Amino acid sequence: MSAGKQKNSEQQAIDQIRASNQKLDARTMANNLIDGDRNALSQAITLVESTNAKHEILSREIINLCLPHSGKSVRIGITGVPGVGKSSFIDVFGSYLIGLEKKVDVFAIDPSSPISGGSILGDKTRMDKLAANDKAFIRPSPSSQTLGGVARKTRETILLCEAAGYDTIIVETVGVGQSETTVHGMTDFFLLLMLAGAGDQLQGIKRGIMEMCDAMLITKADGDNATKAMRAKSEYFSALHLFPAKNSGWTPRVEVVSAQEEIGIQQAWQIITDYEVWMKQRGLFDANRNAQDIHWMHETIKENLVSKFYNDMSILKKIEDIETAVRSGSLSPFEAARQLLEKAK
Ligand code: GDP
Repeated sequence: MSAGKQKNSEQQAIDQIRASNQKLDARTMANNLIDGDRNALSQAITLVESTNAKHEILSREIINLCLPHSGKSVRIGITGVPGVGKSSFIDVFGSYLIGLEKKVDVFAIDPSSPISGGSILGDKTRMDKLAANDKAFIRPSPSSQTLGGVARKTRETILLCEAAGYDTIIVETVGVGQSETTVHGMTDFFLLLMLAGAGDQLQGIKRGIMEMCDAMLITKADGDNATKAMRAKSEYFSALHLFPAKNSGWTPRVEVVSAQEEIGIQQAWQIITDYEVWMKQRGLFDANRNAQDIHWMHETIKENLVSKFYNDMSILKKIEDIETAVRSGSLSPFEAARQLLEKAK
């Protein structure tokens, strides 16, 4: 055997050992995670959130191994303006669910964190009771430059948590840009938290968000605010009926809650379980998840294509000149885009 050939086969053997070790690690981690080991779950999530290429390969393998064990949960999206009482509600609601023998995961989607340098959401200390419970798992928003990146990592993390036996997934967001639509697109049930008596009842609420919600909860329905909350409940109920009916036939419900007085917590859960039954009886629960999976597949393709394009050396070399030409008016933006796209490998 020539020296060159021998080197090649040695390299192949090393590669194989590396590959099998990697498999072994991924398998061990996945098995531990499925057995409910919180450390294994945390480590796997760290790998998902990592930007290191090796970690990405390993995390992909773990996700594939976890996939057959995931999906058995109800995924709840929660949104509302800052201060509406999201974290207080989730703290009490999550603790109530744990009392029903559930295992609860709380995620945050906060695309503003890389910009502001700190996260509006997902701060562990916001949910003291829940954070102290070993049946709960609270995860701050993963950092990424794009909402698409945050969303993909969260979706992958949800799969891992489901494989680890978490059956109630809560994804919290605040209305930053498209984040509500994103959360709606990765959950089974979408809950909108609203304040009573904050000026004009319908002011400042994006119509699209109201249209998306499956239920609305009027928060802080205690003390002097209780009557106002009841009034708001009937006003919002009427408002919701002005929207076209949902394809599923589900009528959005409105309830009043107080995290402070623990009012309406059980009712909130009842609405979600009613919804789950409604959707499952009609075969819509799985159909909705399947449609979401297809959507995310296309989103991931788009995200990868865009990232590949902008990291392509032949594009990077050309892009400045082409931008200058567009700015000076000597090249139309459409022709510029065509030329750059043609250069992409
Ligand atoms: P978030 O920004 O939407 O997560 O809102 P928080 O849960 O942090 O709550 C904002 C403020 O409202 C805090 O000062 C809470 O103490 C208060 N708050 C939350 N829930 C209730 C409630 O049920 N009743 C009353 N009276 N205050 C509440």
